[in-house]
Amino acid sequence: MSVEKTYQKMKAKLSRIVPDFELRYKAELAYEINRLKKEKNAVILGHNYMEPALFHSIPDYTGDSLELSRRAAKADKDIIVFCGVRFMAETAKILSPQKTVLLPSEKAGCSLAESITAKDVRNLRKRFPGVPVVTYVNTYADVKAESDICCTSSNAAAVVESLGTDTIIFIPDEYMAKNVANETGKHVIFPTQISMVRHESTTDLDYEIIGWHGKCEVHEKFTVEDILNVRKQFPDVVILAHPECSPEVVDASDFSGGTSAMIKYVEQTSAYHYLLLTECAMGDNVAAENRDKEMLRLCSVRCPHMNEITLEDTVKALRHNQYVIDVPEEIRVKAAQSVERMIAIG
Ligand code: SF4
Repeated sequence: MSVEKTYQKMKAKLSRIVPDFELRYKAELAYEINRLKKEKNAVILGHNYMEPALFHSIPDYTGDSLELSRRAAKADKDIIVFCGVRFMAETAKILSPQKTVLLPSEKAGCSLAESITAKDVRNLRKRFPGVPVVTYVNTYADVKAESDICCTSSNAAAVVESLGTDTIIFIPDEYMAKNVANETGKHVIFPTQISMVRHESTTDLDYEIIGWHGKCEVHEKFTVEDILNVRKQFPDVVILAHPECSPEVVDASDFSGGTSAMIKYVEQTSAYHYLLLTECAMGDNVAAENRDKEMLRLCSVRCPHMNEITLEDTVKALRHNQYVIDVPEEIRVKAAQSVERMIAIG
């Protein structure tokens, strides 16, 4: 496909969202990336939070992090370029150890993934012996390796219930733990708020979900007041909240689900106004695919880590084979078990 055709294809989706001069410039970058992708036998994955021009031009697959890693594992390519953040690229490496996995920016971290370490998990296990650890996929490989099973935002409650135990450790997202507790009728405690010194009777107490104080720096910003203000202005609006939002925000919304579930919900319902309480680039990406529907914006809420991934850096990633994601084999094997156990549940 020529530069002009790349531009036309992007324009068809994005003319209402991205200024024309920017589209022309980005079409040239996208053309070069697609050329390099073929030359290097690479596959490009684009997370739902990528900026619209990137999202609609270079990925072979788009979606949420786990879905993308699973697809990449099946693709017959030597290189996986993950346009997302580090923990996502690590998950791709966990599932595709024989492939080279590249992350276009070294700075693409995540406040949730950084909120907990492998040592923290080992300490929780010491404090609550025998209690299984459920770990959200938004964590680094060494944390996954210390866990029994992973979960995503869409299967968290199902994973918790599949274990059939009275008590579980659910890390690291505080709000998601509370949302899962509401969904499963369990109650939740946060041991970092009370003494970590082990008390004789600790294991006898009636804990059900033991959480952690991690938060997504994007989703924690949404408030019930935001929802009330938007509903006042647009009484017909349908509000979708990511489960990383607070339980109060989830409760005041019409639907809660992970990024792929939100996209499906918008596609399968027929309202005119929607408000997606999630990373704001996704609102643009959903708007580009649903031109008959209006996505309202609370658009100061861009994830700084996702924002690190640009078309410019993706060109460099392919040209210079950077930044290679490595996971030590011992950690990878254990982390893979946690991920595979979750995949078996669905
Ligand atoms: S949106 Fe939140 S959970 Fe996702 S990468 Fe950014 S900080 Fe992490």
